[in-house]
Amino acid sequence: MFISSSCRPIRVFSLFLLLLLILEGRPAFAGVRALSSVEFPRTLKAEATLIPKVEQMLAISATFREQCLRLDEASKLVVLLRVNPLLPRSLFRAKSTIKRYTTGLVIVDVEVAEGADQAQWIAHEFEHVLETIEGRDLEGLARMQARGVWRSVDQMIETSRATDAGRSVLSEMQAVDLSDKFVE
Ligand SMILES: [Zn+2]
Repeated sequence: MFISSSCRPIRVFSLFLLLLLILEGRPAFAGVRALSSVEFPRTLKAEATLIPKVEQMLAISATFREQCLRLDEASKLVVLLRVNPLLPRSLFRAKSTIKRYTTGLVIVDVEVAEGADQAQWIAHEFEHVLETIEGRDLEGLARMQARGVWRSVDQMIETSRATDAGRSVLSEMQAVDLSDKFVE
């Protein structure tokens, strides 16, 4: 699920403060760096309760590691990842609210429901983030009823690319779960 909005520049200053707080303590260096297999992207700020889940996904899923590498390379991006127990799970399990600022800063608020399927939905939403930073005009594509992009509940946008990414990560996670059971 995906919601997009533009914001007035007056809020940018406070958001830069937020950004500074988020990035506080990280080493300042220029250029692209290589991530180790279990390192978080610099652009991701995850709620503490989700950190073990993200670490597990990074350790197991090559698809998720690739997503994180690409998020790490993005500039002017902050991805906030948190659990929202109030999401209407019968309608959707996660949603991303994307805010673009006139400075070029993009802040994505990713909310996931509680439950065992969080890996699928985190990967699903991260793919929406990648679609956004690539400049895909999802609103326009949905309006034109382009293949693989459609309106879902509450006029939110859904894409086959995000759906596929979530399923790929889920199957990679489940493959490890299954092999673990074989060695018991
Ligand atoms: Zn979606």
